[in-house]
This record gives sequence, structure tokens and C-alpha cells, in this order.
Amino acid sequence: MSRLPVVAVVGAPNVGKSSLVNRIVRRRNAVVSERPGTTRDRAYNRAEWAGREFTLVDTGGMEPRAKVGLEALVTLQARVAVEEADVVLHLTDARLGLTEADDVIAGELRRARTKVVLAVNKLDNPADDTERHRFYSLGEGEPYAISAVHGLGVGDLLDVVVSLLPRSEPESEVEPPAFAIVG
Ligand code: GDP
Repeated sequence: MSRLPVVAVVGAPNVGKSSLVNRIVRRRNAVVSERPGTTRDRAYNRAEWAGREFTLVDTGGMEPRAKVGLEALVTLQARVAVEEADVVLHLTDARLGLTEADDVIAGELRRARTKVVLAVNKLDNPADDTERHRFYSLGEGEPYAISAVHGLGVGDLLDVVVSLLPRSEPESEVEPPAFAIVG
């Protein structure tokens, strides 16, 4: 079996990571809550877009300034997910605007030297495009506008994500049947 490429969704608590993962895998297995930081661990999901299969990792909210306690542990878990990932999807929240947490996370991702795709979530109204532009200052390239809840922009975002995935090694040959029907 070849290893599937790995995409990790990271971002500050409550920006909509679990909602996005649910939207992509179309299952309700990740924990979504009104409470920040409910997804404590890394959750692995098998996902597919445009004929490319990959592992999609949901992480708890990153709080890089947390040095102790649960927040620090969750942040550590997210860092492991970043290390494992071929592509990191950095999710931010247009309603909150650009935050210090976004800046700190962008700094960590730069140091990790992973490929990063930046998405700005909760842009439920596609006409409202001004907030998105502020996120250019993170230095992660084009900020893709999405609404995880309404599914807006998610397809375009996934096009970019899968274009950055490494080609997986060819699957091993399918075993030939142990018998043949001779007609
Ligand atoms: P996480 O902590 O980053 O995993 O965030 P969640 O997926 O748990 O979402 C946090 C909150 O934001 C929930 O109340 C979601 O319903 C809400 N939310 C997520 N995506 C969107 C969106 O696209 N639009 C709006 N308006 N709310 C969203």
C-alpha cells in the first residue's frame, strides 16, 4: 500500500476547522462545537477531490503562546500534524479579522517550511470580499475566501490544495486471481 499524501488543517481555536473538515469528508465524525477548542486531538479522515485521495487531519486550535495546560498540549499535537503534512491548510476567520494568533501560527508554519494554503472562513456572503485582503499580510500568498458552513469557495480551495500534493507512489500490482475460468 502506498502512503496517501497528508493535508493538515490548522488554525486558531473556533475558526471553523472541524466545520471545513466535515464539509470536505461529508461525514459528521469530527467534533464541532460552539465552544472553542473542542477538538482536542488530531483526527484523521480519508478524503478525495478531483480524483486525488489524501488523508485530511483535523487539529485542535493552535495557541502557540500557551506554555502549559491543555492548550499547550493541543498546540503540540497540531505541531506534530504540521510535521507529518505534505500541505498545511491554514484557516482563519473573517469575522474575527486578522488576529495575533494568525500571525504567530504563520510564523511557525514558515519555520516548518511546509507548503501552506491560506483560507479565510466565514465569508458567507461572496460579495463581501474586503476582509479577505487583510490576510495577505500573513505572507502565505493568496487568501482563499470560503464559507465552510455554506460550502462556498471550498471546491476552488481544494483545487489548489490537491495541485500541491506530491504524486503518490503507484499502488502495488493487484494480485491476479488464483484460478482462471476457461470457457
Ligand atoms: P474549530 O474550533 O476551528 O474546529 O471551529 P468549529 O468548526 O468548531 O466552528 C466554530 C464555530 O464557527 C461554530 O459555531 C461553527 O458553526 C462556526 N462556523 C464555522 N464555519 C463557519 C462559516 O463558514 N460561517 C459561519 N457563519 N460560521 C461558521
